[in-house]
Amino acid sequence: MSNCLFCRIVAGEIPADVVLRTEDVVAFRDVNPQAPVHVLVIPVEHHANIAELSAQAPHLTSKLLDAAAAVAKSEGLDNQYRLVFNTGADVGQSVFHVHAHVLGGRDFTWPPG
Ligand code: AMP
Repeated sequence: MSNCLFCRIVAGEIPADVVLRTEDVVAFRDVNPQAPVHVLVIPVEHHANIAELSAQAPHLTSKLLDAAAAVAKSEGLDNQYRLVFNTGADVGQSVFHVHAHVLGGRDFTWPPG
């Protein structure tokens, strides 16, 4: 999709700090990080959200989750990370190309403290 921001990052039309790239997935640092480690993992193929991805391309869902784990490991998170898929504008999804937020490096326990 030519008007999709993340498709344009996949195509190299918009620069990104890429930490992992395979035939099926790309991972890059979020421009507005919410934690010391904040990486977005996306499928190369365009799907709007995680529900559509898992319904339409379960093999890519698996690859996306594997890539998120690989990124967490390469970022030194030692199996301590939060994986977030915002699904829908009402809960804050702003880019409608499915992406996993890999977050770590700070305390995420709730309530904080
Ligand atoms: P969401 O709100 O779940 O749709 O997440 C979209 C994320 O994309 C936000 O955390 C943004 O900071 C991030 N973002 C937007 N534009 C870029 C960009 N050009 N490169 C990297 N991350 C971006």
